[in-house]
Amino acid sequence: MRRCFGCTDFSSEGFAVLSRAAAKSASARLRNMGVLRVSNDWRRRLNVCGGCPLHSVVNGVAHCGKPLLTQIRRRPEQGCGCPVEAKARRPGEHCPVTASHAPSSSDGACDCKWCTAQR
Ligand code: SF4
Ligand SMILES: [Zn+2]
Repeated sequence: MRRCFGCTDFSSEGFAVLSRAAAKSASARLRNMGVLRVSNDWRRRLNVCGGCPLHSVVNGVAHCGKPLLTQIRRRPEQGCGCPVEAKARRPGEHCPVTASHAPSSSDGACDCKWCTAQR
């Protein structure tokens, strides 16, 4: 069923995902302008992404898995859909999977690919 913006279910998971993506996109622009802080090790993170099987390039832009707008609902093992450079530059961000491509967890020491690659 097609729905217009006015009758969208604002509590839906899809809408929440899109809202978060819009906020991340806005913060990435501010980060590129030097307004927001950039992660100190974003190049190292990007290097890990470069060797990852989930790394995909669409229209010249590298993403974590398929771009978000082509697949809203997804499991962590499918990647988050973010552009990887913006994701790597965002402090506090983590890779969605472990080195063995299970969903990562930040309970205690984070076990994501980015964090375990530097231990
Ligand atoms: S964030 Fe993680 S899963 Fe996504 S492309 Fe980078 S290394 Fe792969
Ligand atoms: Zn991590």
